[in-house]
Amino acid sequence: MTVDAAFAVAWMTAAATALDEACGHLTELDAQRGDADHGVNMQRGFAAIAAALKEDPPDTAGEALLTASKVLRKTTGGTSGPLWSAALRRAGKTLEADGSLAEALEAAAAAVSDLGGAEEGDNTMLDALLPAARTLAGGGSLVAAAEAAEAGAASTSDRVATKGRASYLGERGVGSADPGATSAAIVIRALTAAG
Ligand code: ADP
Ligand code: MG
Repeated sequence: MTVDAAFAVAWMTAAATALDEACGHLTELDAQRGDADHGVNMQRGFAAIAAALKEDPPDTAGEALLTASKVLRKTTGGTSGPLWSAALRRAGKTLEADGSLAEALEAAAAAVSDLGGAEEGDNTMLDALLPAARTLAGGGSLVAAAEAAEAGAASTSDRVATKGRASYLGERGVGSADPGATSAAIVIRALTAAG
């Protein structure tokens, strides 16, 4: 599917609302595996994106995601801030070049891999992003993509993390889901509110 500016703004705005609601849960997950800042990183970052898109409405979906990337680069720290900034930038460029939403999600995941060096199964946000991108690319619906992202995020609780802060914990991190995969599934689920 191709997407327009209104879709992209609705997506980012729905993601901001959902991440705000999930902030406590994401904080708890990051307290298990990391340093308990992931909920606030995502909450603040996406709130800033939603505010910027409201203040200065974009003309295209690509422009919306490029703005979102810029906002995150300026406002959001942690590992996830720069990674999401890179993801949204690559997705925005793909949409600017008339790519589909599936191609944009694939590009976003590739940007995360390029920057962070992780692959699927390393227990990161990629474990939600890649199944969602694959589902859409295979002709699946937004709801199916969201379900794939959620299943991917849930699968991280059974594995030892190999990237990022959670990898320092080894086996002790097993049993709770990766916070970044969980928040990525929330962002993907927000697509269903936009489409
Ligand atoms: P920090 O780890 O710096 O405290 P956050 O808590 O905001 O940053 O984000 C942690 C999340 O970032 C992890 O749960 C994981 O999903 C993601 N992450 C960490 N390292 C990588 C990486 N190399 N590639 C992809 N995602 C990563
Ligand atoms: Mg953290």
